[in-house]
Amino acid sequence: MTHSPPVCSYEGSDYQTSFWEQGGRSYEDQAEAVALRRLLPKGGRLLLELGAGAGRNTPRYSGYQRVVVLDYSRTQLEQAVQRLGQAERYVYVAADVYRLPFVDGLFDGATMIRVLHHMADAPLALRQVCRVLQPGAIFILEYANKQNFKAVMRYLFRRQSWSPFTLEPYEFTALNFDFHPRAVRKWLAESGFTLERQLTVSHFRLGLLKRLLPTRLLVGMDSLASLTGGLWQLSPSVFTRSRAVGSSTTAEAGAFFCCPACRHAPLDERAQSLACLSCGKEYPIKDGIYDFRGISYD
Ligand SMILES: [Zn+2]
Repeated sequence: MTHSPPVCSYEGSDYQTSFWEQGGRSYEDQAEAVALRRLLPKGGRLLLELGAGAGRNTPRYSGYQRVVVLDYSRTQLEQAVQRLGQAERYVYVAADVYRLPFVDGLFDGATMIRVLHHMADAPLALRQVCRVLQPGAIFILEYANKQNFKAVMRYLFRRQSWSPFTLEPYEFTALNFDFHPRAVRKWLAESGFTLERQLTVSHFRLGLLKRLLPTRLLVGMDSLASLTGGLWQLSPSVFTRSRAVGSSTTAEAGAFFCCPACRHAPLDERAQSLACLSCGKEYPIKDGIYDFRGISYD
């Protein structure tokens, strides 16, 4: 295990406040809520929320008995704890998506919203997700679409040099990637997923429209437009629902964490940490947050 892509961390960021609460993003937030309602199964046992941030979407997963709220940033998780509380139904985990600290086949559902966007090695992340899912588990993935209407227009009118039609990711700023829908579909298939449904979202992400029209009207228009998501994808955001068919195991009852460095399970439960009895690494538990980040892999 030497491959270790760089991670985009929101440590210390006021992203929740500046982007979502004061950034005029209620249209995007509500359009996402509509998409999630359409794609989520009615109920489930254990959901993995990857890149949960401050827990903006977490209350929308109320159909699941338990939710693992995972993010790389501890400060984002501290905000999530404040928002959601230390209820039995939430498990807070700080970890790297490329090295998930869970046994194979643990979850019957996973979501990854506005996260692939930051993945320098998206296929590697998707393979990790498939590993921790049970056969037949649901995976809801959102990604930023490089082939969006605005980019297509700008390219056709020679206002931008990069092509929205080619398959490689477009890194518009460090560790921020837009992806081509066909590339994402290919990675999903290669990682063991069968794609079931696609919804295009946030068609009307334009400052002028958001100022002129009521949010409720924009969300309603978006909700209709998103239904053609299986036919073409020209919106800046695309939601997909897939099923894990490539995973082969269902975790045994009681199994949960494994060592992200050496994959050994179970970990030894101590007062304020989990310890790996195979490689000797120790992972702190502080203020209700399991922290699997502070490890080197050499
Ligand atoms: Zn270990």
